[in-house]
Amino acid sequence: MLQTPIDVGTTACPVRRPLIDGLCRPVSYLRVSVTDRCDFRCTYCMADRVQFLPRKHLLTLEELDRLCSAFIALGVTKLRVTGGEPLVRRDVMGFFRSMSRHLDSGALRELTLTTNGSQLARHAAELAACGVRRVNVSLDTLDAGRFAGLTRRGQLAPVMEGIAAARSAGLRVKINTVALRGLTEGELFPLVDWCTAEGHDLTFIELMPMGEDGAESRIGQFLPLSEMRARLADRFTLEPLAETTGGPARYVRLAETGQKIGFITPLSHSFCESCNRVRLSCTGELYTCLGQEGSSDLRSVVRNTAGNDALEAAIRSAILRKPRGHDFDYSRGQPRGVMARGMNHTGG
Ligand code: SAM
Ligand code: SF4
Repeated sequence: MLQTPIDVGTTACPVRRPLIDGLCRPVSYLRVSVTDRCDFRCTYCMADRVQFLPRKHLLTLEELDRLCSAFIALGVTKLRVTGGEPLVRRDVMGFFRSMSRHLDSGALRELTLTTNGSQLARHAAELAACGVRRVNVSLDTLDAGRFAGLTRRGQLAPVMEGIAAARSAGLRVKINTVALRGLTEGELFPLVDWCTAEGHDLTFIELMPMGEDGAESRIGQFLPLSEMRARLADRFTLEPLAETTGGPARYVRLAETGQKIGFITPLSHSFCESCNRVRLSCTGELYTCLGQEGSSDLRSVVRNTAGNDALEAAIRSAILRKPRGHDFDYSRGQPRGVMARGMNHTGG
């Protein structure tokens, strides 16, 4: 039975003990995948002929609201909406509108999303009106032909329009680029120069062995970010920044231009010891580690219980069992720690 959404911050539901895992890491960041569907088929993310889940398996908007509100009541202050492609879910703006009440109450500090940008042009203004201040846009190349090849069915032009619309709506844009051997070496300076000119932050991400379609064969595409850093250092003076966002990225500033560049290196340098995040899949499984199979089924808790006590207990119990870290490893010529689960299901 569905519940009335929790009004976080009211006396009926005061924010209680924060979520702390079994290794004393506070958990304050929830990434929620609102759909496994996508209008692209990025080669490193999903198969061309991917089978999406039946819609009845997906969390409804009310269930998403109840779950996310429960996490916020337990001290989650940052919520990232992802997927699949979050903006292809028809009712997704209703979810942003309902989550914005937690920004208004002060319980939530940040509501944001990760998107491929294809639908951003028509949603950017409403996202800003819902209190979204920043968006992450995934973009691996500025070349229209290579973009079409890599995304299999995406087009670069609408993505660029989406990014422009986001900026016009007052949103900050961070570009996320997955580093791929044979591609990103040539994209590095065009992307850096473009982000510098446009005022976007830029973060590179190491390829992870996820998704049953070809995770094994992707080993040849793995490009350690140490190589990208070395290439950057040929042209720029890199000033390491002490700042972290509490997340996995490590930053440098290019002294000559001031451009900030992030590096997310799950393979070559693990960052699990400070991990503050958990992921809710589009079917309501809570993954407390992106790189481990274990999950807790929160959908059945939501569908089978009325009060919030059982839900809170299930969340706390899952968080207590958060694993120490992932086992992704490409260093021995064989991918290890491979996850059959696709990034689109868990939410990248
Ligand atoms: N569709 C949205 C997008 O592309 O931004 C959100 C979901 S996507 C799964 C989230 C992020 O995961 C993207 O930045 C994407 O590049 C990244 N990603 C997908 N598969 C990956 C992999 N195998 N290794 C590293 N990053 C991956
Ligand atoms: Fe879709 Fe994002 Fe996966 Fe690309 S990375 S296929 S845009 S979910």
